[in-house]
Amino acid sequence: MPLLVTGTIGIDTVETPTASVEQVSGGSCAYFAVAAAFHHSPVRVVGVVGGDWPAEHEKLLRSVSGLCLDGLEKRPDSKTFAWGGRYFDNMNDRETLFTELGVLEEEPPEIPYLYQDSRMIFLANSHPSIQLDLLDKFPDRTLAVADTMDLWINIANDELHVLLQQLDGFIINDSEAEMITGISDPIAAGQKILELGPSFVIVKKGEYGSVLVDKDNTSVLPAFPLAIEDVIDPTGAGDSFAGGFMGYIATVNEINFEEMKTAMAWGTVTASFTLQSFGLDGLVKASKDAIKSRMLEFTEFAK
Ligand code: AMP
Repeated sequence: MPLLVTGTIGIDTVETPTASVEQVSGGSCAYFAVAAAFHHSPVRVVGVVGGDWPAEHEKLLRSVSGLCLDGLEKRPDSKTFAWGGRYFDNMNDRETLFTELGVLEEEPPEIPYLYQDSRMIFLANSHPSIQLDLLDKFPDRTLAVADTMDLWINIANDELHVLLQQLDGFIINDSEAEMITGISDPIAAGQKILELGPSFVIVKKGEYGSVLVDKDNTSVLPAFPLAIEDVIDPTGAGDSFAGGFMGYIATVNEINFEEMKTAMAWGTVTASFTLQSFGLDGLVKASKDAIKSRMLEFTEFAK
């Protein structure tokens, strides 16, 4: 089942309690696509970068097998999306230092003709009106799932609620679920979001794992148990989780709650590689075998 993703391809600046880096490769779409490609290919990317997109970021993305980058548009006179964040001592909570929208303030990218038959759509973090615009172009889709972020809940809440009505699934973190619903309990917040449109919701709780709810069922999964010294940079872990989840879902014959639980485990394991380095490097350098063997370990752990 062809899987398409749109979102940001960004230049990140990240500060943790022990280190900081500038100009590393990131963006919601980039993390998602690399993670999904471990499980399903091709992953069709729709995104825009500016003339300042570093050549080494492009080289890294092009080195990933299983990605189709025909829908990646370069605009030489524009600025690439850039984001800076700082993690607090627990490495779970963070604050955004800056967000430079750049190309996100321009026209959305063209969808290549060969992407027209895409049926599974993931709308990684981006402006909800860009997410809606893309969804409109795929009326024959079988599955539409999205993510969002505090910035969009703050500045584009109306568009976000229109988007929610059109989604099959929604994957967000616990603080965003609380912003949307006013409910701090992740299961209750997920159930409340079901009333806004999606038929399933996943609420991520960082080092405390994730929960999946649909109208009849609830499932709770722990995070992969990484030692604290192995957690280098959590940036992109949420997008990588979504990539692992959707990449697996794209391979199943029938999407049901049991398959979604398995997909969550693949998402969890895939995201654990992102935590182990700054930028996309850790995930790009992971191998399918390493992901599979960590999945076996995780299955034992989560029993
Ligand atoms: P995550 O840690 O999974 O929430 O994802 C962080 C990634 O999303 C970073 O690589 C950023 O470049 C990107 N990002 C940060 N803020 C936004 C935003 N408001 N919209 C879209 N992407 C964002």
